[in-house]
Amino acid sequence: MGFALIWMLCGVVAYMIGSKKGEGICAFFAGLLFGPIGILIALLGKGNRKGCSYCKELMHKEAIVCPHCQRSVADTQVVGGSKNTNTGRNRVAP
Ligand SMILES: [Zn+2]
Repeated sequence: MGFALIWMLCGVVAYMIGSKKGEGICAFFAGLLFGPIGILIALLGKGNRKGCSYCKELMHKEAIVCPHCQRSVADTQVVGGSKNTNTGRNRVAP
């Protein structure tokens, strides 16, 4: 019976870790399902966060301005470049 309690505790601990990364619920279920391994997943996973290269604080991975130090952290993202636009060629032959 104590086994389930430990698993629940793992879920809560994983939730607390994951909530800082914006993935609390996901981490909670990971902890609930995998127990201590779920905590590890929550610890190792960055979630949808990335570290600021200036102040090392975590922020949303799609953020372009750090909410902590207000610096621009826009990555060199590949914008556009849609080469494969031939998706409308699925006509059904008679
Ligand atoms: Zn920063």
